[in-house]
Amino acid sequence: MHEMSIAQSILKIVLTEAQKNGAQKVKVVRIRAGQLRGIVREQLAFFFEFITKDTAAEGAVLEVEQVPIKAQCKPCEHTFMVQDYKFLCPKCQSKDVDVVEGMELAVKEIEIE
Ligand SMILES: [Zn+2]
Repeated sequence: MHEMSIAQSILKIVLTEAQKNGAQKVKVVRIRAGQLRGIVREQLAFFFEFITKDTAAEGAVLEVEQVPIKAQCKPCEHTFMVQDYKFLCPKCQSKDVDVVEGMELAVKEIEIE
């Protein structure tokens, strides 16, 4: 139920924002989700639709922007995009790397009426 709890936290943020801005209706919700979060888009959209019923966000479109994984090599400080979950520095072949992008999960923008 990973996606369900994510959908709930998104909804909470969205409804708080909507209320703050005196919105009647939320039209679009855009989120940024790091690839490492392993979110299944369809499942998230399904749960989101389910829990937004009878709220200001009912019928809102959920757009998910996937953030690819980026890592930095500790020994040589080279920054690179991680493909196929291979955490290996392409420059010096070190496996001693830090993930610098790809873990984020945030509501980027909402469109209201
Ligand atoms: Zn390196």
